[in-house]
Amino acid sequence: MVLGELSGSMYRALQQMKNATVIDEKVLDGCLNEISRALLQADVNFKMVKDMSLNIKKIVNLDKLAAGHDKRKPSYVPKKGKPSVVMFVGLQGSGKTTSCTKYAYYHQKKGWKPALVCADTFRAGAFDQLKQNATKAKIPFYGSYEDSDPVNIATQGVEKFRKENFDLVIIDTSGRHQQEASLFEEMRQLAEATKPDLVVFVMDSSIGQAAFSQAQAFNREVQVGAVIVTKTEGSAKGGGVLSAVAATKSPVIFLGTGEHVHEFEVFDVRPFVSRLLGMGDMSGFMNKIHEVMPVEQQPEMLQKLSEGCFTLRMMYDHFQNLISMGPLSQVYSMLPGAGAADLMPKGREQESLAKIKRYMTIMDSMTNKELDSTDPKIMNESRIMRVARGSGRSVQDVKDMLDEYKRMAKVVGSTMKGLKIPKNGESSR
Ligand code: GDP
Repeated sequence: MVLGELSGSMYRALQQMKNATVIDEKVLDGCLNEISRALLQADVNFKMVKDMSLNIKKIVNLDKLAAGHDKRKPSYVPKKGKPSVVMFVGLQGSGKTTSCTKYAYYHQKKGWKPALVCADTFRAGAFDQLKQNATKAKIPFYGSYEDSDPVNIATQGVEKFRKENFDLVIIDTSGRHQQEASLFEEMRQLAEATKPDLVVFVMDSSIGQAAFSQAQAFNREVQVGAVIVTKTEGSAKGGGVLSAVAATKSPVIFLGTGEHVHEFEVFDVRPFVSRLLGMGDMSGFMNKIHEVMPVEQQPEMLQKLSEGCFTLRMMYDHFQNLISMGPLSQVYSMLPGAGAADLMPKGREQESLAKIKRYMTIMDSMTNKELDSTDPKIMNESRIMRVARGSGRSVQDVKDMLDEYKRMAKVVGSTMKGLKIPKNGESSR
């Protein structure tokens, strides 16, 4: 089952649930059965599917679900021109200060008048960091080197910016851990004094399952209304995100995808789910590799893929397998975006095959260094011209081939990087 069909089945299953006026055990079972069947057909490990189904049943408290009643907590959305206070909380190092600036920058670009307040008096250098970020993004800020009372600073900052007609005042707070009772008390006081319209819980995507208890602890002290997940680039982990959402019953609103101020994406559930599905596929991918690849070739290839490394030679081998439709093509077809389905759309196989052969002819004129390089920049204009001449193809053909390579390398980078290499026969997660 290809990914498109899988998401179709999932969508249908969820739609059924959405259309039901009363969600009882029968409706939930029906939905879970549908999803499990789709996942099994997509080659996801049986035990994983069974565990997932049991876990969901454990989490969902049917008694609490009143008939037709929507339990989701609507998240506060700041309105342009209407003063809003948004307070950021989270563990130290989760990416709060960075995300505050990104959040401000995002809204500034859309016509808001945002300002930043640094209420982190705990960490030396916190104000300087916020100041630096804010200055770079041209966002007004407020903080103090002398005052050590975060409640004072926050209150003053909010008052000042409100008077100056800023419509989005963002408060950055110290990083804290659920065991630090006094810091948690301070956070509660901060919320009491500034009365934020929205509290955003910032979490690092790599925190994993610890996300649940941390998010829950923060939510107990201050009403978390939204979640921002940081450092999501290249990471395929999804469990932690779901835990934070479950613990706070709040939606994820943005994803941090890098250190820079513009590396910030509005959270959209669809690509996220397809990434999760990609993860399901990944375990199948690993199992397939063990089945079809000579054992002596496995470690090297897996090692390379898990480093997010994908060379032109690997693409060449991939094409060779696609052409012969050998068992490896099944393996690659599991890579979302890099599979046979993309390269060979149904009904256009002949055309696609000709394209693949053309690309291979072009690669035949490349040097070993070019084929084994992991840096796409190696193919500069003069090399492209040489390869075009050598292969008898146009410069545009060479560029098209390189674009295809970059696209595949990006997919490998985002889905395979950091993947733990399993021992023979084990699933990867
Ligand atoms: P805070 O202690 O919660 O305020 O965390 P910081 O904002 O200081 O971030 C901690 C580190 O994570 C810094 O080095 C940031 O540059 C980095 N960081 C924050 N968000 C992201 C992200 O989305 N991706 C990456 N790669 N790094 C991030």
